[in-house]
Amino acid sequence: MLLLKNGLVVDGSGNPPFHGPVLIDEGMIAEVDIHAVGDCPSMDCSGLAIAPGFIDLHSHRDLQALDGGAEKLRQGVTGEVVGNCGFSPFPFDGDPRTLQEFASGILGKPDGWGWSNASNYLRAVETQSTKMNVFPLVGHGSLRVAVAGQSQRALSSLELDRVAGLLDDALSSGCCGFSTGLMYAPGSGATKEELERLCRIVARRHKLYATHMRSYSAGLVDAVREQLDLARATGCRLQISHLQAAGRSNWHLQQQALDEIEMANRQGVDVEFDIYPYQCGSTVLTQWLPAWALEGGKAALLERLSDKATRSKIAREMDRTSPQSWSDITISGVGTAKNAELPGKTIADIASARTTDPAECALDLLVEEEASVNVVSFNQSRENLRQLLTHPLCSVISDGFHVKGKAHPRLYGTFPELLGNVTRDRGWLSLSEAVHKITSKPARRIGLVNRGLVTSGHCADLTIFDPAAIQSHSTYEDPDREPEGIVAVVKDGGVVYGRGEWAA
Ligand SMILES: [Zn+2]
Repeated sequence: MLLLKNGLVVDGSGNPPFHGPVLIDEGMIAEVDIHAVGDCPSMDCSGLAIAPGFIDLHSHRDLQALDGGAEKLRQGVTGEVVGNCGFSPFPFDGDPRTLQEFASGILGKPDGWGWSNASNYLRAVETQSTKMNVFPLVGHGSLRVAVAGQSQRALSSLELDRVAGLLDDALSSGCCGFSTGLMYAPGSGATKEELERLCRIVARRHKLYATHMRSYSAGLVDAVREQLDLARATGCRLQISHLQAAGRSNWHLQQQALDEIEMANRQGVDVEFDIYPYQCGSTVLTQWLPAWALEGGKAALLERLSDKATRSKIAREMDRTSPQSWSDITISGVGTAKNAELPGKTIADIASARTTDPAECALDLLVEEEASVNVVSFNQSRENLRQLLTHPLCSVISDGFHVKGKAHPRLYGTFPELLGNVTRDRGWLSLSEAVHKITSKPARRIGLVNRGLVTSGHCADLTIFDPAAIQSHSTYEDPDREPEGIVAVVKDGGVVYGRGEWAA
């Protein structure tokens, strides 16, 4: 038993915080009987907040979570949902290399990984990830790659049967839901019929469907409508991932997208969304290419880029369709020694140093790096970000992933950034609202019934922090820095991270 005394309990429900003792008994939060706990060991939490362990509803640390995950623990995270945007490290049939080629840019590790099915991944999580609860989604892109490789064509009915079977197997094996990445090949090739068939399975299993939609820029509103129609037609529970209107010329579309979501919600569609607390996003440079250029995978792309006419067609299309200007896109990760100086520089800067056109420069970089280039892009206005973060349907996520250079600071600082800068300093949210969006709200989305609240009968996953000091120190230039103000992180009653008297 351990009694936490004199702390401010921010219980995750969104209700106002209160002062009171919290008792941990056999890994659970127990009812406090003041007469029975007289001699029980205790910790003084004066001046500190006691919250449920933070749950990151959208992470790409599928592989790194297995190694313990220091960069998440030190932010107060005790659980993360992986397998987002269509990328899960399973399943594969026979040879994992096609799956690795498809997902390594997002999962942050070129090779040496892969699980043939969800059960095997879940078993690895169970034995290796003792400090973190890992809740996997199964990715649509990974399922498609397992059945039909990297082709974006419509699936044959036999192939769709196989994808449906693999999805059902993953959901019945313990995955908390299904994710799509409809801007990424080959998931981008999915037809309405394919998505409806798959979402019906998700609905029947009462799991969550999380989607990286077809567009977050000029096509945002249509993309939102497509997903809402899918939820209406199939009855699946819908989570719109990292909602935003990316690029200055699209900022006005956010209100329309929210209107559509709110209307569906009022009509009874179980739809919510999430966003990270930063104005910049992070992805792979191939996202700026037209879909047809990515058909068939990396080798096919590089082949196309070696043909002068095709290449210039791609460059012109990128110039026309990019929601960002080339000076809003900064290189964050490359693999070659020759380009090791590029992270931190924008494509416009690199093009001018190389005296070439920016779109041509982007294609040069893709050739030099064999199509693996990570970028950070300036996407959002401050006003739009505030509107999303403060919206009652919004959970706050990291969307963090590792790259071969400088990862987006959201990987290392999301939760302290939310509680410090966004909540305390800017005053956009109350402390209890902010904590709700990173605890019981995401827990409910994935159907957890015994985590996400500080209440008796829940697992003792707790984050103890100093609300006056909490702060992220991660920057775009120097992202991998330990945040301030997280005092202790407890998972299932055991201290998994601690500072000062909480240090192990
Ligand atoms: Zn995504």
